[in-house]
Amino acid sequence: MAKIAVIGTGYVGLCTAVTFAHLGNDVVGLDIDAAKAARLRAGECPIFEPGLEAMLIEQTASGRLVFTTDYDDAIPGADFVFICVNTPPAPDGGADMRFVRAAATSIAASLIPRHRTIVVDKSTMPVGSGDMVHGILGEHAPAGARFAVVSNPEFLREGAAVHDMLHPDRIVLGSQDRAAAEAVAALYRSFDAPVLVTDLRTAEMIKYASNAFLATRISFMNEVAQICESVGADVRGVAAGMGMDKRIGPHFLNAGIGFGGSCFPKDVLALAHMGEEAGCTPRLLHATLAINRDARRRFVGKIERSLGTLKGATIAVWGLAFKPDTDDLREAPSLEIIRALQARGATVRAYDPVAMDAARPLLPGVTLCADPYEAATGADAVLLVTEWGAFKAIDLRRVRALMRRPVVVDGRNLYDAREMREIGFMYAGVGVAGTATREGIIQPLGAVNASDPCDEIAQIAAD
Ligand code: NAD
Repeated sequence: MAKIAVIGTGYVGLCTAVTFAHLGNDVVGLDIDAAKAARLRAGECPIFEPGLEAMLIEQTASGRLVFTTDYDDAIPGADFVFICVNTPPAPDGGADMRFVRAAATSIAASLIPRHRTIVVDKSTMPVGSGDMVHGILGEHAPAGARFAVVSNPEFLREGAAVHDMLHPDRIVLGSQDRAAAEAVAALYRSFDAPVLVTDLRTAEMIKYASNAFLATRISFMNEVAQICESVGADVRGVAAGMGMDKRIGPHFLNAGIGFGGSCFPKDVLALAHMGEEAGCTPRLLHATLAINRDARRRFVGKIERSLGTLKGATIAVWGLAFKPDTDDLREAPSLEIIRALQARGATVRAYDPVAMDAARPLLPGVTLCADPYEAATGADAVLLVTEWGAFKAIDLRRVRALMRRPVVVDGRNLYDAREMREIGFMYAGVGVAGTATREGIIQPLGAVNASDPCDEIAQIAAD
């Protein structure tokens, strides 16, 4: 069994540390955030990730997993050091590599002579970063320290991170040192997953290209959704029909309010930036980002048209996390949408099953409610922003009775349009036939005390 240090214990680092301990290795998780390290030592999981806390408690109790803030506790004698620090967007759109550089410098200073350590880049880093990390290690390591660098990008999905760590589709390893790549491959030998060994730069590019491709599928479907609304087709049926084609496959074909989170937006931007720095013209990547921005604007426009005006309206927002089963709010569409609603004079009441604590400091002026019913009480519209399972199981008739006006704008196409209308809602999805925003299909409801909105619904049905 190996001695492993994991640098950065956020979403990726914590899952990596827990997984390698679970596989029987001795693991030290290191973070510069002392409060986070203290919580982890106490067996408290700082993030919401299904199944993670139970594994954390099990592995800390077994003694195979410990946490520290001190590089001298973690690095000397480690066989593998996984760099899992954040690589957020820099102002120019590229990846901000300050945290990686700092981590590599600290790792180098704690290496010991004669012991061979393999430094594994798991953070998403621009092409060429492996060479940069190698250079920093060479510059700052003590004489006689032996090291190699391997890129091992991570493909986990937040909300399913534990599953994805234990059941990866593939392991990608890139290195100029074949023996080092094979040593990292051996760490994963109990996994039933193919291992692809490439050079360093190819491995780094596989991560960016994969994320950019998935993001592009989403933007593609949002563009198709817009056309569906205009021509009277239903994008959900279109996606189902497309997904049956083996060449296309069913995943990442859901139209909605676009992608968010800590990865897709920044990684598409960073890949475009990388291309531009190299003299290329990444038109498709920029279009992917532009369509994503438009998806949110169109959503806000749809709400505004449904109500006539947002000024003075009370809007219930269901779902704040960037996707279900996580409390992560980084680049969450909810934040941008709520700010736009507030800027247009609306009052916002919001609810999320797990992201409320994380949301509180980010959403000044928003009333955070105890449940979706409380959020809907007195609202002029309910917006479905994150497709948590709990929202599918909700008592919609009760919601209808609590609202001031029965408008539901569904950013994730979670609900059945016919059923919603039967309950008495004025319902709009994304790219769903008959709920379009094309002039004349959804009529404004007018003033707050407008006549029974069912008249409007009848009109939609007639259209
Ligand atoms: P995160 O922000 O949740 O965690 C990063 C951690 O690194 C923080 O706890 C921070 O305190 C710590 N850190 C920063 N500098 C440090 C240093 N010098 N020494 C020690 N610790 C340090 O980030 P994350 O979401 O886990 O992402 C990490 C990397 O993995 C990023 O490059 C990201 O793009 C990539 N990635 C993320 C996901 C995801 O779903 N979150 C998936 C695949 C890849």
